[in-house]
Amino acid sequence: MTAARKTRSGTRASRVADVLDGEYGRRRSGGRRSNPLDTLIGTLLSQNTNDRNSYKAWVSLRRKFPTWERVVAAPRPSVAAAIKVGGLKNQKARRIKEILRRVKQDWGAYNLSSLRRKTNDEVMEYLLSMKGIGEKTAACVLVFSLNRDVFPVDTHIHRICNRLGLVKTKSAEETFRAMESKVPVGRAYSFHLNLIRFGREVCKSSKPICGECILYDECTFVHKHELAHASARSRHKRSGRKDFLITEQLSKKRL
Ligand code: SF4
Repeated sequence: MTAARKTRSGTRASRVADVLDGEYGRRRSGGRRSNPLDTLIGTLLSQNTNDRNSYKAWVSLRRKFPTWERVVAAPRPSVAAAIKVGGLKNQKARRIKEILRRVKQDWGAYNLSSLRRKTNDEVMEYLLSMKGIGEKTAACVLVFSLNRDVFPVDTHIHRICNRLGLVKTKSAEETFRAMESKVPVGRAYSFHLNLIRFGREVCKSSKPICGECILYDECTFVHKHELAHASARSRHKRSGRKDFLITEQLSKKRL
């Protein structure tokens, strides 16, 4: 990761961020933050499932084991049973216990607050040294818990950035690196959340609603014309679940 980015106004990425801010509002990164270990475990639970089920898994885990000590002491099948709703229960239970043991060994407590004193690169290097933790999860810890201007990329953001022509990449990992120099300075948090919402409501995976897209003019997706035609008469159904993000929920609720 580069240490600092220069402001890039007038680029396609900044225009896209502006349009999304205008539509959904600029998300501010202040306020209470989830602690880094909670975000790490919560984001791990969100792998290969949706936010609603991963949050249910998180609530179930914390209710059954109110402290991380109890998670470590518990038999793995009990931990797996607690997070079953989030899928991949055995793999995730094993990883959670490994991570907790490693954190205790490295910092003397089940606490990653010391990461606040580390640089982005140091935090990234440390978290990536843990089995099962990838760049997206590490970036979530940086932006959601450590208040850093880092832009996590999941499969949805990877898809949208490529459709919009912001990048031309083949994986979320490539997109993460390519977007690092494009995200407007100080706006990674808002840009990330608004793109997630935009992907759920408009630029969906299989049927993007190009006919109602506020970014149509910016978009370089080759199929946008035919998709716009197909969706021209469709009504945009809002699910009411659009804003649910586990990383936000962790900072809002105490269990
Ligand atoms: S025009 Fe279609 S493909 Fe392009 S960003 Fe909008 S919804 Fe996505």
